[in-house]
Amino acid sequence: MDSKLTMLLFFSSVINIINTRVIITRYDESVCNLDSQTVKDIASYKNVTQRIMDEIRNKGLGQRTFEQFSAFLDKFGARPSGTKNLENAIDHMINLTRENGITDVTTEEVDAPHWVRGHEAISMILPRQKNIAVIGLGTSVGTPIEGITAEAVIVSSFQELDQKLDSDIKGKIVVYDVPFISYGDTVQYRSQGASKAAKKGAVASLVRSITPFSMYSPHTGAQYYDGNVSKIPAAAITHEDADLLHRLQDQGEKIFLKIEMSSSFDTTKSRNTIIDVKGKDNPEKVVIVSGHIDSWDVGQGAMDDGGGMIISWLAPVALHHLNLKPRRTLRAILWTAEEPGLVGAQAYLKKHMSELKNIDFIMESDEGTFKPRGLSVAGSTEARCLIAEILKLFSPIDKLEETDYPGSDITLIVDKGVPGASLLNDNERYYWFHHSEADTLNVLNMTDVIDCAAFWAAVSYVIADMPTDIPRVSPIYT
Ligand SMILES: [Zn+2]
Repeated sequence: MDSKLTMLLFFSSVINIINTRVIITRYDESVCNLDSQTVKDIASYKNVTQRIMDEIRNKGLGQRTFEQFSAFLDKFGARPSGTKNLENAIDHMINLTRENGITDVTTEEVDAPHWVRGHEAISMILPRQKNIAVIGLGTSVGTPIEGITAEAVIVSSFQELDQKLDSDIKGKIVVYDVPFISYGDTVQYRSQGASKAAKKGAVASLVRSITPFSMYSPHTGAQYYDGNVSKIPAAAITHEDADLLHRLQDQGEKIFLKIEMSSSFDTTKSRNTIIDVKGKDNPEKVVIVSGHIDSWDVGQGAMDDGGGMIISWLAPVALHHLNLKPRRTLRAILWTAEEPGLVGAQAYLKKHMSELKNIDFIMESDEGTFKPRGLSVAGSTEARCLIAEILKLFSPIDKLEETDYPGSDITLIVDKGVPGASLLNDNERYYWFHHSEADTLNVLNMTDVIDCAAFWAAVSYVIADMPTDIPRVSPIYT
């Protein structure tokens, strides 16, 4: 299937699910029927989980890793898909893995989109002169060199746009001033807004940044052009300016904006990085922990997804350090090119389709590494019951949220019937910084990241070492 279409379908399904998430403080175990031997087996991991967590939290491994991670973020900064800088960052992590004594580190090549932002500026011409902070959206085309100067029409929803006559939109700039409800609810205006506006004849599309909070910060992100409409420039502006434009329109003012944007787009090579601690009994079976190493081209990609990448990297490193070999292989994957549309994960799925039956469980952290709370779990009731029992080892990090779409990259594999989970954490402020210049080291708290890393390594060890596999609904390996 056309990959852009796949992505659109994928994102719209994610959006629906995110909206229905329910956090429960303790999994409803009345639906569980674990046999006493399994409960006993799980309880027997108490000492080893404490040992792993203690090594990371209190014996210097976590702190040393955080210091190396800080240096990584400062050295490489933003790591956009398709850039040499991302490839250098990947090489750096491979070297760091080897320095930590793990030789089982490999890479798999991926065709990576390489979109580069150029000059970007917007000014309001009427009713008064004012500069408007702007950030182009990934894959956006540029404007003609002289820019686009046109009247702006501000709408609050797709329905409001649909109700307008094409003649009201033709030749104008559509501005989506959509209040933030949740990321899932609101992100469609960023990802699909330009195509919907172009369908009605708009010449450019602007969206109020997808964040619950703004200090005049524009936030970027991916957007996708429908195949059958003309590609118009697409950018995000701040809450403050979107709301200002809306108020001016409500007051009956004619608003004219001038937009200047340039960009380039091609495809280059990148790599997924795979780090294994091979299983001692069933090396062919794998438990995967993961995060993406690429980021947007702003900020340092510290939170999205440096934190998720480093805690996943540390899981096999910590086991190796402690000389712990689980029954199954524990595999860390540093996904590449997540931001342009889960490109690294799609390549992995394609290459490893025949091995899906051997993925026992798959985990990703891509929604913050703030104070850890537990796991957001996709899978059968039996799988959730087992994970809920395992989480009891980690109290107070023992919350279980039910979801069908954990994480971003791994959703592609979970969709095929593989049970999986993402890290549940106190990420209420995640979208404040997301995809903006503010996603820097300052957002991270060392203790929280170390706690996340300790939990992530220990819980993935238990799953990789348990006598029984994680049950699955019914395999759909197509
Ligand atoms: Zn991310």
